[in-house]
Amino acid sequence: MLDNSRLRIAMQKSGRLSDESKKLLAQCGIKINLQEQRLIAFAENMPIDILRVRDDDIPGLVIDGVVDLGIVGENVLEEEVLDRQAEGFNPQYKTLRRMDFGGCRLSIAAPRDFDYTGPECLKDLRIATTYPHLLRRYLSQYNVAFKTCLLNGSVEVAPRAGLADVICDLVSSGATLEANGLKEIEVIYRSKACLIQRQAEMSADKQALIDKLMTRIQGVIQARESKYIMLHAPTSVLDQIVALLPGAENPTILPLTGEQNRVALHMVSSESLFWETMEKLKALGASSILVLPIEKMME
Ligand code: ATP
Ligand code: MG
Repeated sequence: MLDNSRLRIAMQKSGRLSDESKKLLAQCGIKINLQEQRLIAFAENMPIDILRVRDDDIPGLVIDGVVDLGIVGENVLEEEVLDRQAEGFNPQYKTLRRMDFGGCRLSIAAPRDFDYTGPECLKDLRIATTYPHLLRRYLSQYNVAFKTCLLNGSVEVAPRAGLADVICDLVSSGATLEANGLKEIEVIYRSKACLIQRQAEMSADKQALIDKLMTRIQGVIQARESKYIMLHAPTSVLDQIVALLPGAENPTILPLTGEQNRVALHMVSSESLFWETMEKLKALGASSILVLPIEKMME
């Protein structure tokens, strides 16, 4: 029996979100041995249990209060919510934050020779998809009725197999569509992974652990999006240098030993530094320009 006092987090066992989910928890300092093919993994250094399941099961586990937190694609979450609402329920959960991974779009795609002029063209066609509710919500805005062919995998082969006229499926690069003779005609939903929490109030201990975890997740994601920039620059052009740097409101300026007219500048930037900007900095007289990754941040 699982210990109810430990925080339960559901994540995808294997698939497109599992590596990033695992990495995020590890970077937050949670020590888990996920090597074994086990459904449940126990953290060694914190009262946390990880449940490893199919991504489709994660929203339901959180909504039903079986687990405390879940990491899942917004597409899967939203589809589950719409499904439960269609059944007359009122699913409840809290979104804690959007992640910086799992980005994809749910798109309608048609055979390359399909003459597409707008959503109205799809009237009464058969559309193969795993996301019937998201598709219906989108097309109902245009009063377009359609027939569904519900598939849980290999959606992209449906038109070639004669199962459907067009498809509605997840796309990231578009290479799978291309390989199956399809073209993207309409983006209906943009998704990323997100962290959700069950609605019911937590015990004070669990809530404190969630708050701590959220601060760490924030620190990890913010650090991934930031860079530490160091350079040497002539004091006379410092204003111009600072103007070129993204988010350089408060750079640290340090003296350089034996140099009267040059200083060192250190700063955390919310963006990476492009080669073009580095070339401009150099042209202004900057030197020793270093752009370093940041591992962790806490503000
Ligand atoms: P499971 O076995 O857990 O049910 P799955 O086959 O349903 O896995 P994956 O293909 O691993 O799911 O995708 C999981 C999630 O990753 C998607 O729901 C989506 O949020 C995200 N994702 C990111 N890029 C893509 C992509 N190119 N195609 C599909 N999903 C993507
Ligand atoms: Mg799935």
